[in-house]
Amino acid sequence: MALIVQKYGGSSVADAESIKRVAKRIVDTRRAGHDVVVAVSAMGDTTDELLELAHEVAPLPAPRELDMLLSSGERISMALLAMTIHSMGFEARSFTGSQAGMITDSHHGKARIVDVTPVRLREALDEGAIVIVAGFQGFNRDTRDITTLGRGGSDTTAVALAAALKADVCEIYSDVDGIYTADPRVIPLARKLDRISSEEMLELAANGAKVLYIRAVEYARRHGVLIHARSTFSSAEGTYVLGEGMTAPRASEGEVMEEPIVAGVATDLSQAKITVTGVPDVPGKAAEIFKIVSKSGANVDMIVQNVSAASTGRTDISFTLPKADAPAALKALSVEQGEVGFENLLHDDQIGKLSVVGAGMRTHSGVSAILFEALSEGGINIEMISTSEIRISVVLRGSDLAEAARTVHAAYGLDSEIEAVVHAGTGR
Ligand code: ADP
Ligand code: ASP
Ligand code: MG
Repeated sequence: MALIVQKYGGSSVADAESIKRVAKRIVDTRRAGHDVVVAVSAMGDTTDELLELAHEVAPLPAPRELDMLLSSGERISMALLAMTIHSMGFEARSFTGSQAGMITDSHHGKARIVDVTPVRLREALDEGAIVIVAGFQGFNRDTRDITTLGRGGSDTTAVALAAALKADVCEIYSDVDGIYTADPRVIPLARKLDRISSEEMLELAANGAKVLYIRAVEYARRHGVLIHARSTFSSAEGTYVLGEGMTAPRASEGEVMEEPIVAGVATDLSQAKITVTGVPDVPGKAAEIFKIVSKSGANVDMIVQNVSAASTGRTDISFTLPKADAPAALKALSVEQGEVGFENLLHDDQIGKLSVVGAGMRTHSGVSAILFEALSEGGINIEMISTSEIRISVVLRGSDLAEAARTVHAAYGLDSEIEAVVHAGTGR
């Protein structure tokens, strides 16, 4: 008998029919003799709808109240799921994040889990119940307020529960059959992976692949949790995300796999670019600029500084950041324009970021050449470039992104012969 944590995303519990499908899966796992703990997301696009509603009544909703509102989505789905399981003749008990002992810091909207004390879950399991936990939410002990863990945060709930309860596996169910070499909504010929290293998955998640939430992958890596990403809509094996020293359950003894050089391609349309023009080319200016940007709360990703024009002694600095952070960063910079002495601010929210990820880049040369050649043959202009040990990213026009991704995916030989299936969801 194993202890299995299962997480069902919004598209898996979008309506009554879907909730029944999920309940059946849970009951089947229980029937097979396992203890089951479930983390569940809000139904369908509920969280987006609640967010829109909040912005209709207040341009800048109070963070505490926004968390109160958003956490209600998961309460609906957890109770409905527990009721459905009851009606199938099984004992199930639902718990909010705070009842489940999900203790976080006080950072509303993006709280970090600091402790998990699943006392009540243990009791329920010991009494033979199936445990259902509202994903995406926690509780801060100092403020005694409800927090949320960031968009996509139900994945983190599941992984944190798996770590605290020492589960055998954390199964993350969504509307695709696992982790693919690219988002199958963007590249229909993406190929499903049987396994991926947590290191590569982190890079993909950090660069736009929302199939797993980055903090969940980090948490799993730190606590040695085995993630199995799979589909609610089929019983096929999905993708195992393997931390160092882990092996997939069904990997044959002593199996040596030739790892592909490139694991996958990620696309991201959620970033904007700010260019600060005419910055005096003297020591300390970059420090001043990025101190202002960081104080505005923005999370800077790529940075490029141009060679300064000798005649003017001035240079341009461009950086990318989440679109949502741009207004605050622009405002903060313009307030300090006189102090820093730059000439102008340009804002571009029509960019796209394409990233190629693979641990094999450490040991193989020529990986970037393939990317640049493919983009050049496609006539696609590159605006910025950045690299890490196992990733190359380029910034392009947003309107070129999907086409560029397909070209690059093919150039690395990642295309499959068959089209991937996306079972449900709106991709919102
Ligand atoms: P859930 O609502 O179940 O949490 P998400 O919408 O967060 O599901 O994640 C699943 C979606 O992630 C898929 O529908 C797919 O469009 C997208 N996705 C992005 N990159 C990938 C990838 N590399 N492999 C699989 N899916 C991906
Ligand atoms: N419902 C939350 C969201 O939409 C959390 C999640 O789905 O993981 O972001
Ligand atoms: Mg998700």
